Amino acid sequence: MSPRPSPAPELPSWVTWWQRPFPDANTLLLHGRQPALVDSGFVGSAAATADWARERAGAVGLVVNTHWHSDHVGGNALLQARGAAVAAGAPEAEAIARRDPGCCAAEYLDQPVAPYTVDVPLDDGRILRLGDADWEVVRTPGHTPGHLALWQPEERLLVVGDALSDYDVGWVNLALDGPEAAATALASLKRMADLAPRVILPSHGAIPADPEQAFATALRRARRLVDDPHGAVWYGARRIFAFALMIRGGIPAGEAESYLHARAWLTDAARLLGRSPEELAAELVTTMLGSGAIVLRDGRLHASAEHGATAPESLRVPYPRAWPPPGARG
Ligand SMILES: [Zn+2]
Repeated sequence: MSPRPSPAPELPSWVTWWQRPFPDANTLLLHGRQPALVDSGFVGSAAATADWARERAGAVGLVVNTHWHSDHVGGNALLQARGAAVAAGAPEAEAIARRDPGCCAAEYLDQPVAPYTVDVPLDDGRILRLGDADWEVVRTPGHTPGHLALWQPEERLLVVGDALSDYDVGWVNLALDGPEAAATALASLKRMADLAPRVILPSHGAIPADPEQAFATALRRARRLVDDPHGAVWYGARRIFAFALMIRGGIPAGEAESYLHARAWLTDAARLLGRSPEELAAELVTTMLGSGAIVLRDGRLHASAEHGATAPESLRVPYPRAWPPPGARG
C-alpha cells in the first residue's frame, strides 16, 4: 500500500484555487472589493475562465500574468473586453505595447494567443492590491525573461507560475533567452525558496504538500539543467511538442515530422544539439514514443499527459505580428 498523500496546506477563504489540466494553467481567484485573477488559462477556455471567475467573485477588476505563455494569458482578451485591466512584468508589457513579433513566444512556439494589451507594467517589489490583500511582485526570470512570482507575506502564500511544480521545474529556452537562462532560473528559485512560503501555488499540478521538500527537489532539477545544457534543450523540446499535440487533439503520425521541421523552436534546438532539424524531429518522436510521453492512437500522435479538448476554431487567432495596435481594441 502506498502511503496516504499528506493534505495540501490550507488556503485563506479569500483565495479560490482552480487546478486545471493542460492546456490551461491553474487559475487563482482573489476575492474582495476588486476581484483579481492570477493567470487566465488557454485561449480555447477563455469563456469558461471568465464565467468561472464572474460566478464566484463578480466582475474581475484585474488579471495578473505570471508570464506570457499561451496557457497563462489566453483569457486576457475576453476578460479585458469585460472590463478587467491586465498587469504583467515590465519587459513583457513593453513588448506587448510595441506588438513585438516575439510576444508570448506565440509564433515561435506555435501556440495561439488572442490579442491583448497590458495596462499595468510590474517591476520587482511593486505592491499590488489583489482582492482585499496586498501582494508583492517578485521578478523571477528564467522560464521566461519576464516571469514573476507573487508573495503574500501575512499568509505566506507564494504564486510561483511555471518556475516549479510538485513534479518538475519550468523548462528554459536556451536558444531564445541565451545560455544563461538556466542559471537565471536557478537563481530565481533560490530567491523564492528564501522566502520560505507556507503554501506554494504552482501553475501546473497540485499544491505541494511540503514546500521545503518541493524547493529542494526543484533546486536539484534546476541545477541539472545548468550542468547539462543539451539535456535542457531536450527537456524544452519535449514539453513544447507535447503541448502542440494537446491543443490540436493530436497530429496525424505521417505529418508530425513535417510539422516539426517547420517550427522555429525545433530548428533552434537542432542547432544547439548539433543535429539537422530532420534528425532531431525523428529522434524526438522516437524517444517520446519510447518513453510513453506520446502515444499513437487512431493514426495520430497524442500527448499522454492528462489534458482537456480544444475546439479547433479557437486556435484561429493571429500571431502577435498581426495584432491590432493597442489603441484599437474593442
Ligand atoms: Zn510557461
